[in-house]
Amino acid sequence: MLDTNQIIRAAFDQGLVVPAFNIPYLPMMEPVVQAVRDNDTFALIETARLEWIKFEARGLKAVMNEYHRLCHTDYVRLHLDHVPVVDEDNQSVDYLRVIQEALDLGYDSVMVDGSRLDLAENIAATWQAVELAHKTGIPCEAELGAVLGHEAGPKPRYEDLFASGRGFTDITEAERFVRETGCDWLSVAVGNIHGAISGIAKDEKKVEARLNLEHLEELLDATNVPLVLHGGSSVSQEHLLTAIKIGIAKVNIGTEIRQVYESVLRDSGKVSAAKRAVYERTVWLIQEYLGINGTRERLLAYADTSGGTR
Ligand SMILES: [Zn+2]
Repeated sequence: MLDTNQIIRAAFDQGLVVPAFNIPYLPMMEPVVQAVRDNDTFALIETARLEWIKFEARGLKAVMNEYHRLCHTDYVRLHLDHVPVVDEDNQSVDYLRVIQEALDLGYDSVMVDGSRLDLAENIAATWQAVELAHKTGIPCEAELGAVLGHEAGPKPRYEDLFASGRGFTDITEAERFVRETGCDWLSVAVGNIHGAISGIAKDEKKVEARLNLEHLEELLDATNVPLVLHGGSSVSQEHLLTAIKIGIAKVNIGTEIRQVYESVLRDSGKVSAAKRAVYERTVWLIQEYLGINGTRERLLAYADTSGGTR
C-alpha cells in the first residue's frame, strides 16, 4: 500500500491537492467517503481532538471504527488533525499520549500543533511528535504561525488581520522549524482562518479569506516541503487554486460541511437528510471548488513510480 506521505508528495509535485475532510459528527463520514469515490478522487478523512471534546466525533477509536467500516484505501486515508500542545482554551494537553494512541490504532498520518508556543518550544514539542510518528513510519504535519479562529471571544476584523500580516508564518522561522523538527508537511498561515467552533459565530457563515500568494511562494522556497492550508472551505477560489499550484498539497475542509450537516439536521430532524446534504456539498467541493474529480489515478500512479520528490 502506498503511504500517505508518498501521496501528498505526489500531489505536491504535480500541483494537485488532497482535501482533508473533518468529521465532527460520525454520520458525516459515510457521505464524504461516498462523494470521494463517486468522483474518482482521493482524500483524507480527519478528526481533531476538539471534535471529540466539543462535537460528537466520540474519540480516536470511534472514528477509526467508522473508518474501518467504510474503508477503501484506494480512495481515502485516516489522518489525526490538530493535537494541540496547548489547546484553544489555553490548557496543556498530553499531546504525545494522544498521538501515540492514534499510531497504535493505525492512523495513517498525524498532526501536532505547537503554534501557541514560542518558536523554540514549538520546535522542541514538534520534534518529539515527529520522532514518535516516524518510529511507526507515519508522516507528521506541524503548524507554524497562527491560523486563528478556534479561540473563544471577539474576533479581530479579518481585513485588519490580512493587511497587517499578523500571525502569518515567518519565512526565516519556517526554514529553521522544518530543518530542526523534520516535520513532513507544514501548516502555514497566509491569510487563511479557521471557522469558529463556539458561541453564535459557530453557525455564522465564514468571511471569504484571501491568501498572500507571494508570502506563500517565499515559504515554499524556504522549506521545500508540502504545505497545508487549514480553514480551506472559505478561501477565495482564485487564490486557493493558485496556492495549490505553488505548493499547497493538502487543504483542510471543516466548517463548510459541518454547518450543512448541523443546519439540515436542525431543520429536518433527520440524519438521513443531513447526510444527503453533506454528500451534495462534498461533491460540489470536489467538482466545482477544487476541480479534482477524476484525478485519482494520475495522483496514485505518480506516487507509485516516483515516491514523490521535489
Ligand atoms: Zn486547522
